[in-house]
Amino acid sequence: MSASLGFSVERRQVLLGVAGVVLLSGCASTARTAKAAADTTGTQLRGESHTSPIPGPDEARIPGTLRPEYYVHAGHKRIALTIDDGPDPRYTPQVLAILEQHHISATFCMIGSSAKAHPALVREVIARGHHIANHTWSHPDLVNLSAASVRDQILRAEEAVHTASGGYRPTVFRAPYGAWDQSLLALCERMKLRALDWSVDPRDWSRPGTSHIVDTVLRTTRTGSIILEHDGGGDRSQTVAALRVFLPRLLSEGYHFVQP
Ligand SMILES: [Zn+2]
Repeated sequence: MSASLGFSVERRQVLLGVAGVVLLSGCASTARTAKAAADTTGTQLRGESHTSPIPGPDEARIPGTLRPEYYVHAGHKRIALTIDDGPDPRYTPQVLAILEQHHISATFCMIGSSAKAHPALVREVIARGHHIANHTWSHPDLVNLSAASVRDQILRAEEAVHTASGGYRPTVFRAPYGAWDQSLLALCERMKLRALDWSVDPRDWSRPGTSHIVDTVLRTTRTGSIILEHDGGGDRSQTVAALRVFLPRLLSEGYHFVQP
């Protein structure tokens, strides 16, 4: 994965105990360098990525006691679909049409500035029965921001979704890049926002090929999985093509989609 692609950056770190000990996997050894390079891309969005397809409890070792949610717990073959970084006028309508075709409800983790720019899409998502999660105002890495800036990112996004939708208030929050720490998780608690992570990540944002996205989702999904896909932040045509294939396949395997 090359940082020269702009937003193709691995940014999933599990910080362990002692300061400075950072475990990186996936494109790991280059992640810090890649992140530094990507930080120079300004406002261009980077997709988030999980470092391994199926995080076990060991991977949830964010120092401290608070944890985001990696799974849904709604029974046998219950899974959830999350669609991040929109709304986007090119891809969100296509995703909505596919979901409607298969009677699937999903959670759209929206960027506040995009929600403000495309209020009709926000209303459309709600009207079709999907949920919206707060995914910050402008998709920064919150770990690098002051507490006041983090709070502002969340509040601005909430206000944007609330205004665009005509009254919907997200009750779920997802950190950009899955970059959680205890102060962010504690803030979510204080703001009455559930912290939502994921457990199946085909890295669709990196455009690895439609078949790679399909294969990864089908190979790694199991009861409780929260699947991560993207409808914004760049060219998501592979994501759209993959959804057309893997959603009916998961349904035929007996999975049911629930809200996380
Ligand atoms: Zn995101």
